[in-house]
Amino acid sequence: EPTQPTNFIRTIVEEDLKSGKHKSIVTRFPPEPNGYLHIGHAKSICLNFGLARDFGGRCHLRFDDTNPAKEDVEYAESIKESVRWLGFDWGEHLYYASDYFEQLYQWAEQLIRQGDAYVEDLSADEIRAYRGTLTEPGKESPYRNRTIEENLDLFRRMRAGEFADGAKVLRAKIDMAAPNLNLRDPVMYRILHADHPHTGDKWCIYPMYDYAHGQSDSIEGITHSICTLEFADHRPLYEWFLDRLGIYHPRQYEFARLNLTYTVMSKRKLLQLVQDGDMSGWDDPRMPTLVGLRQRGYTPESIRSFCEQIGVGKSDSWIDMSILEDSVRNDLNVQAPRAMAVLRPLKVVIDNYPEELVEEFDAANHPNDPTMGSRKVPFSKVVYIEQDDFLEEPPKGFFRLTPGREVRLRYAYIVKCESVVKDAHGKVVEVHCSYEPASKGGSAPDGRKIKGTIHWVSAAHAVNAEIRLYDRLFTVANPDKGGQDFKSFLNADSLEVLTDACLERSLAEATAESRYQFERQGYFCIDAKASAAGKPVFIRTVTLRDSWAR
Ligand code: ATP
Ligand code: MG
Ligand code: MG
Repeated sequence: EPTQPTNFIRTIVEEDLKSGKHKSIVTRFPPEPNGYLHIGHAKSICLNFGLARDFGGRCHLRFDDTNPAKEDVEYAESIKESVRWLGFDWGEHLYYASDYFEQLYQWAEQLIRQGDAYVEDLSADEIRAYRGTLTEPGKESPYRNRTIEENLDLFRRMRAGEFADGAKVLRAKIDMAAPNLNLRDPVMYRILHADHPHTGDKWCIYPMYDYAHGQSDSIEGITHSICTLEFADHRPLYEWFLDRLGIYHPRQYEFARLNLTYTVMSKRKLLQLVQDGDMSGWDDPRMPTLVGLRQRGYTPESIRSFCEQIGVGKSDSWIDMSILEDSVRNDLNVQAPRAMAVLRPLKVVIDNYPEELVEEFDAANHPNDPTMGSRKVPFSKVVYIEQDDFLEEPPKGFFRLTPGREVRLRYAYIVKCESVVKDAHGKVVEVHCSYEPASKGGSAPDGRKIKGTIHWVSAAHAVNAEIRLYDRLFTVANPDKGGQDFKSFLNADSLEVLTDACLERSLAEATAESRYQFERQGYFCIDAKASAAGKPVFIRTVTLRDSWAR
């Protein structure tokens, strides 16, 4: 049963199944292994794998590896891992476009024999100049009317390695006056004496995307070939190749790509941020990559629900980053156990609390979900609270700790500030309080109202930790806009490191995939790479509320 809201592509699939046009559907996700997957790819993955899941079809993972220059095995491995992490499974159906090179070559010879392709000697610049413009028809190449025999001979010699890179290309012979520029004799093959991660040195000619893609879809029996809008103009070419070859003809459908504010998604720009050292790697918690979001503490569920929520449309639009942040916030609100962590500690001494006494208070792991159980939180004479939960001269409406007034220490007691200790600069470094023994658990025996409740950590039991507060990568919604270098909009405050945080004892047990709500602070996960024994490092996934809303 479909679990996703409907969209125009789902409607098409439903109709194709109902009319019997297809008995079952086959989709594919076709990344080029030249970078890490990002949140935009997640939209395509959720769409393609989601259709297969919901309609009992299958979805292929196909590496569109036709350009050896920029591709790498490292990328392919990471892509597989990210698709699995998102919760999808291609089963037996892992394919490489490069596995079709021989078949694609044979089909190219067929097109030559049909008079539908020719070997071109013009340079790339000349081809561009001959191509014309939207308002001006192109000019035919002097090599356009070579005989079939000559074309076959030259193409075979291209494959055999007789010519240098760029010396010749194979072009489809379509129409140099076509209004759609993609149909003005597009290049099908180029010469590239380069090793390929998958086929080694077997080939020195490589097919272009437009020639390889549709035929790969055809070979795999794809029923619905779903791509982003910028390929709509390529669809007539997609169809032309399939029609001329007379092979099984999948249908191409286009949807709007994801554009997300406060980030960039072009692989070139992401690579630049990594290479320039602005980011610690592709998995830096600020990156919009799936490895980055994972490192940041995003759950696969939150990304899937984000993709469902934004829907699939036919015109380009922008999605606000707060929608993505809300999706992880909502997910973690339900599944993350609560804990107390003091990020910027201020020492509080409870003068009338017995020196050696340690009490343990029951703390619910989740306010609305009793099945998540509870834990014991130790309490003793010295505790830490947040620096900003104390103010010597509070403004009106400040209900936290302040001289002469009371506050509730969550789960424990009501305490009253009696005095403070200052350093040489007048900064408060220690707060002295008294506690009311009869307020155990947090309520006053005489029923008086205590407005403020703050979190705390027992000094004697605290786990010392480093906290990395991550924020948005850019300070403006669209760093790509305008003539300015996108890097000039990098958020200089996208990472703040706190080295003296004090966490409640139970957080010593945090493991790589565990996530928490630090009460009143936000959602946090452990940074498994940076943590050391006895000194965990936590990453803030997202704040409790949207601090960017205006
Ligand atoms: P780049 O141009 O940065 O190299 P790409 O789109 O070429 O990115 P591919 O690896 O070719 O990246 O993409 C694989 C699939 O993911 C394609 O089907 C593509 O349409 C889809 N995809 C890529 N970016 C987005 C996006 N922002 N939103 C939705 N789908 C996307
Ligand atoms: Mg690309
Ligand atoms: Mg691409």
